[in-house]
Amino acid sequence: MIASKNADSKHFIELENHYGAHNYHPLPVVLNRGEGVYVWDVDGKKYYDFLSAYSAVNQGHCHPKIVYALMDQAQKLTLTSRAFYNDKLGEFEKFVTQYFGFEKVLPMNTGAEAVETAIKICRKWAYEKKGIAENDAQIIVCENNFHGRTTTVISFSNDENARKNFGPYTPGFIKIPYDDTVALEKALNSSANIAGFLVEPIQGEAGVYTPDVGYIRKAKELCQQKNVLFIADEIQTGIARTGSLLAVCGNCSCEQACEKQATYTRPDILILGKALSGGAYPVSVVLCDDEIMNVINPGQHGSTFGGNPIAAAVSVAALQVVFDEKLAQNARRLGQLFRKKMNGYIQENKLVKLVRGKGLLNAIVINDREDGSMAWDICLALMHNGLLAKPTHGNIIRFAPPLVMTEAQLLDCVDIICRTLRQFEK
Ligand SMILES: *Cc1c(COP(=O)(O)O)cnc(C)c1O
Repeated sequence: MIASKNADSKHFIELENHYGAHNYHPLPVVLNRGEGVYVWDVDGKKYYDFLSAYSAVNQGHCHPKIVYALMDQAQKLTLTSRAFYNDKLGEFEKFVTQYFGFEKVLPMNTGAEAVETAIKICRKWAYEKKGIAENDAQIIVCENNFHGRTTTVISFSNDENARKNFGPYTPGFIKIPYDDTVALEKALNSSANIAGFLVEPIQGEAGVYTPDVGYIRKAKELCQQKNVLFIADEIQTGIARTGSLLAVCGNCSCEQACEKQATYTRPDILILGKALSGGAYPVSVVLCDDEIMNVINPGQHGSTFGGNPIAAAVSVAALQVVFDEKLAQNARRLGQLFRKKMNGYIQENKLVKLVRGKGLLNAIVINDREDGSMAWDICLALMHNGLLAKPTHGNIIRFAPPLVMTEAQLLDCVDIICRTLRQFEK
């Protein structure tokens, strides 16, 4: 561990270690300020943020329009619960459904809750619309998925560390390899009780695994043929991160999700979270059409905070920023530049095996120490050199800066990354 100069930062780290559950392994940096693509530590040192809170801060830290919406609404009305109507929720619901092109929305708070919600809707639809016998519904998921941390969601994870000793697990899930339409077809044919297919268009946590072009489209087609709901978890890939509004938009970089473009694959159920609030507040949603959403009736699902006035106001502002500032287009352009520059580095050096990703969701795979200790050491050195990134799954480092980055800033970051990597070349 690189020792910090300042006693303050040691103090804050000790506080967390002593009083907090040890459910994370943070880099030893203590932040107290953020603006745009930058964060500052308690010593006043400035860093580029190349994690963006796992893609929750796509709009940049403390975006003034989002902060204004938060503060403005906080002074008027914060929470009514859904026992009453309020003047913000309906406006948000209209805005978010039109923005993403669905008839209905169900708002929750965290990503995992939205995934749970999608599973519940899918199962209820299967029993009430598709005619599967109660308790027999199966949902197909992919190996190495990440959909959150609840007991049901970890039930179909194959990350042993995330699962072990949290059982008994929720049944009703079939796991198949990712990016494998043959396996999907086989699973769909294996039973008449398949209700849905839950998939990440790019597997973020697993290490930014980017499937074949055409995988998502083909997967949707296969589901459609079997009257199985195609459920896209775009909590990490959505909201401009991968160079289009949604990863399922494919090759279109406009700030809209629409059927006008040939590359758009419309999910039956779309799950969003993270950047839906630009990192200012926990907001997640499940989007689908009436035919599916109408299986949910009063009392059958809910959340005290879900769709509260602050969440509603913040989310509208956060989505408006994505549109106004053309963040999808910027992510696409800078992503291409980033991979080009990193590929240039890879050609002349040995330490990095490859760079992969889409838009500004990218990762490099380190060609050394499979246990990930090298990736960790590189991240410590990056930190030292003014850039914060985190290893994900062993020897993979994810690079996901805020989408408000400029080209000059990106080139500066490429310079820091390559300079740091060179320190580790043998
Ligand atoms: C982060 C994430 C989740 C979980 O979101 P939380 O807000 O942490 O519960 C689910 N799915 C994907 C793809 C994610 O990246």
